[in-house]
Amino acid sequence: TSQPIVTLNDSRSIPQIGLGVWKTPDDTAVAVVDTALKAGYRHIDTAAIYENEAGVGKGLKASGVAREDIFITTKLWNDEQGFDKTLRAFDASLKRLGLDYVDLYLIHWPSPARGAYVDSWKAFLRLKEEGRARSIGVSNFEVEHLDRLIGETGVTPVLNQIELHPRFQQRALRKAHAQRGIATQSWSPLGQGTLLADPAITSIAKKHGRTPAQVIIRWHIDNGLVVIPKSVTPSRIKENFDVFGFKLDGEDLKAIEGLDSRDGRIGPNPVTAE
Ligand code: NAD
Repeated sequence: TSQPIVTLNDSRSIPQIGLGVWKTPDDTAVAVVDTALKAGYRHIDTAAIYENEAGVGKGLKASGVAREDIFITTKLWNDEQGFDKTLRAFDASLKRLGLDYVDLYLIHWPSPARGAYVDSWKAFLRLKEEGRARSIGVSNFEVEHLDRLIGETGVTPVLNQIELHPRFQQRALRKAHAQRGIATQSWSPLGQGTLLADPAITSIAKKHGRTPAQVIIRWHIDNGLVVIPKSVTPSRIKENFDVFGFKLDGEDLKAIEGLDSRDGRIGPNPVTAE
């Protein structure tokens, strides 16, 4: 299956659409991942804290899709930050996944109060050198946290996975990423489903004979973002990947731009989240 990719600053590439599996129970994850891979997805986003890495690993094997054709991301949970703890947490994630490498390993939150994300990043550099984390990046980092990693190690994360959807478009952070060669990945791209009934979105969907979810996912793609919508429902998993048979026009893009709101954030604020 040919699908759009984003090229990362370490020369590797990531499929632009992935399946998110937050709140997907471990036993459900097996069928969900198998369904997604059979529908054409080649990118799965999990995390240690989702407690479904084992199910994701089983789903990968069940699908029969070759390992080298799949892009797997997992994340280091906050209470495992620190150099040695990170190395141990990574080994445990790989073991649960049943894999000998992941395509991308992320620091899940900066958790600045712990004062340990730079030590974790140094462990990430080792994991990359060993080839067990093919690419390394971060999640929920603000500019100050990104610059601290870059300043202390000279190594820029390949991407930052952040809350991003039409009501919270993160223009300033996206600009800072572009200046530093960091790709932007959108979590809760559908606003956890809350955006699907927005009249601006539903009217664009109607105009194109598409669903609201397809319109929003296409908006992320057209903005160069890597997007990881979540669903456990096979028909929606397929729908969310079928976003290339139509095109948003200038008017649509402008209407969606207008949904951005200063208090559109749904999740925690990364500066204070522990
Ligand atoms: P989302 O924005 O992807 O919304 C998912 C919800 O939207 C579903 O539960 C369902 O209710 C609805 N939905 C999805 N497709 C639909 C469709 N076609 N039609 C109708 N309804 C549909 O929310 P999310 O799960 O929060 O985010 C996606 C992924 O991002 C997560 O699964 C996870 O992998 C990642 N994430 C990462 C972080 C982080 O801190 N790094 C935080 C939150 C989420």
